[in-house]
This record gives sequence, C-alpha cells and structure tokens, in this order.
Amino acid sequence: YPVDIVTFCKEFIDDMQMVIKPGQHVVYHHLEGPSTVSIDGQMLKNILVNLLVNASKYSAEEKEIELTTKVQRNQLVITVKDQGIGIPDVDKDNLFISFFRARNAIKVQGTGLGLYIVKRYVDLLGGTITFTSQVNSGTVFTIELPLTSLPAQPPV
Ligand code: ATP
Ligand code: MG
Repeated sequence: YPVDIVTFCKEFIDDMQMVIKPGQHVVYHHLEGPSTVSIDGQMLKNILVNLLVNASKYSAEEKEIELTTKVQRNQLVITVKDQGIGIPDVDKDNLFISFFRARNAIKVQGTGLGLYIVKRYVDLLGGTITFTSQVNSGTVFTIELPLTSLPAQPPV
C-alpha cells in the first residue's frame, strides 16, 4: 500500500482535533527520507490513534504534542512526544501488559488496553516500540516499522 506519509499525518492530525484537548497543539515534522512509503495505512492509524490519545490525556491543556516521521534504511521511524505526567521508573517494565496502568495515571480515565493493542500491531508489522519518559516532564514513544519496497506501479 503506497502511502504519502506527510499527507497521511497531516490529515490524521486534523481528524484528531475532535479527541484532543482544546488548547493542545500537535506539531508535525517529516525529518528525512522520501515521503512515499509502502505500509498498511489502517494499521498505522490504529497505532497512532492510541499514542496520540495517550499523549493528549496524560498532558495538560496548554502542552504541545510533537509527531515526527523519518524514512531511513527501509524503515519508517515515528515518534510521539508529549510534555505530560510521565511514567514512573517502577512502572516502565509493565507498560505493554494488558490492563496495566501506571500509579500516577489513576486520576485519568482509562482501561490499560491501548498500549497492549499497539504492541500487538507493531509486532504484526514486524516492528519495534520503545519509549523514554520522565515523571512530570514528558514521554517519547518511538516506533520503527520495516518497509517493504514499493512496487514500480501502484496495484490496481
Ligand atoms: P486505554 O485502554 O483507554 O488506552 P490507558 O490509556 O490507561 O487506557 P494504555 O494506553 O495501554 O492504557 O497505557 C497504559 C498506561 O501507560 C496508562 O494507564 C498510563 O499509566 C501509561 N501511559 C501511556 N501513555 C502515556 C503517556 N503518554 N504519558 C504518561 N503515561 C502514559
Ligand atoms: Mg491509552
């Protein structure tokens, strides 16, 4: 599935305005590489929705959210960065377990399934997901997805 990742992300962010907090701005940068990639767009959307909603609900209204994409060495690298509540060190190992919620997230509504599902999708695509986070400072999720080479002609 050939997808223009820049157009895809811009449209995706427009769609997300309905679900993110009113004052939150989502900034998007495509950092490097050709923007046309071969990837399952629906799958990618399912992943990004979960990460964007998390970035929004675990950070305050005035805080910025940053989305970046990069294509390098036949990989699509995506980062979602927020300036939110962060993830305590003691909870970091358990984040992708179903129904797990970090101790500082209890006051925010959630079931603890989003990241579990995201991890499953990323695994299905043969990729990896990692994060760095600091409490009261913010979190960055990084997804690396292998790209299949583009067909010379788009499939009919
Ligand atoms: P839902 O199933 O509705 O997504 P949830 O957001 O609680 O519920 P996950 O998305 O799986 O569940 O996230 C698991 C936990 O990881 C969260 O409860 C929260 O503690 C922590 N977490 C996830 N993303 C962030 C983030 N961007 N900043 C801070 N904590 C986060
Ligand atoms: Mg979630």
